[in-house]
Amino acid sequence: MPNTEVIAASSDTATPSGGRLIVDGVGVSFGSLDVLSDISIDVAPGEIVALLGPSGCGKTTLLRSVAGLEHIDRGTISVNGRLVAGRSQHERPERRRVGMVFQDWALFPHLSVADNVAYGLAREERRSGRVESSLEMVGLAGAGDRMPSTLSGGQQQRVALARALAPRPSVLLLDEPFSNLDTGLRVQVRAEVHRLLTGLGITAVFVTHDQEEAFVLGDRVAVMRDGALEQFGTPAELYEEPASAWIASFVGDANFIPGHGSGATAETALGAVPLSRPTHGRVDVLVRPEHLRVAAAEGAGNGTVSNIEYFGHDHMIRVDLVDGTRVACRAPGWPAVERGQTVTVGCDGSASAAFETA
Ligand code: ATP
Repeated sequence: MPNTEVIAASSDTATPSGGRLIVDGVGVSFGSLDVLSDISIDVAPGEIVALLGPSGCGKTTLLRSVAGLEHIDRGTISVNGRLVAGRSQHERPERRRVGMVFQDWALFPHLSVADNVAYGLAREERRSGRVESSLEMVGLAGAGDRMPSTLSGGQQQRVALARALAPRPSVLLLDEPFSNLDTGLRVQVRAEVHRLLTGLGITAVFVTHDQEEAFVLGDRVAVMRDGALEQFGTPAELYEEPASAWIASFVGDANFIPGHGSGATAETALGAVPLSRPTHGRVDVLVRPEHLRVAAAEGAGNGTVSNIEYFGHDHMIRVDLVDGTRVACRAPGWPAVERGQTVTVGCDGSASAAFETA
């Protein structure tokens, strides 16, 4: 069954423009289950934010709360300086100036492309050429008479976008917008959508459980876990300076090397590793695979190659260090060592994050 909820904001503005979205201390409970607790996110006009997290962490509930499809129990939500949800305040979805693209795109199969886009527009907006200009905006000028079933997946996705953009919302929300597309098309469509959103300068928040998608599309990424916001930052901040070991592993391949911090460096089985923040005592040092170097041992070495995975553009070498730690090391091209070989593994000197040993 296609999802038939469609949100349409009413406005006379000629082109979409990004508004500011502030989610402040929001909590949502379903019965005794706290699904969202104390979520605060400030999205700047024109910014694209990804909500990233494992299944069931509350991403969709947060998106639906911003859209007005869920009532919040705590905190406030404002769009462009206007309070839309808060204590005893719940503005109706169609009045929030928020557009939404659903996971299954929610196109009406029995309506033409133009009628799908027109759905939710006021009569005068339909007459003012809003449908045609919205279709043109997404590169589908002239497709108004087609039926959705005659369009490719990527084109259907763009119709859904045109429909959400037609009422000229301040903020666009997208729930797993690419999950209906197969891998090749997905990469192409997400690049097109990214170009479109940045070109329009619209504020957008989208849900994904795919780290790559979040990093490629998001100016900033909000990482959620068990209904809470774990970290909100740029992709580089999350990757280089994760707030926890869990985030470090969630956003990329991670080695945790046991060590002893003494301020600016930690002593580990790989030697002294520079730390990005002064740390003391027992720590697990985060070293990304691309920051490890592997060479055939000239002497005793410090590990043995247990496996090699060759990907073409690069390869991953898995090494069992002499102290029992297993590490993964990534490098471009064809590997210069082989399975079973004694090797020396070292860090490339990049500063690393470190976490107190649990
Ligand atoms: P996914 O990636 O699998 O879509 P998600 O991160 O978007 O997950 P939500 O769909 O927001 O997570 O769900 C968060 C939690 O809230 C889940 O445990 C879910 O079962 C629960 N939940 C969601 N909607 C309701 C509801 N209407 N009534 C009761 N529980 C709900």
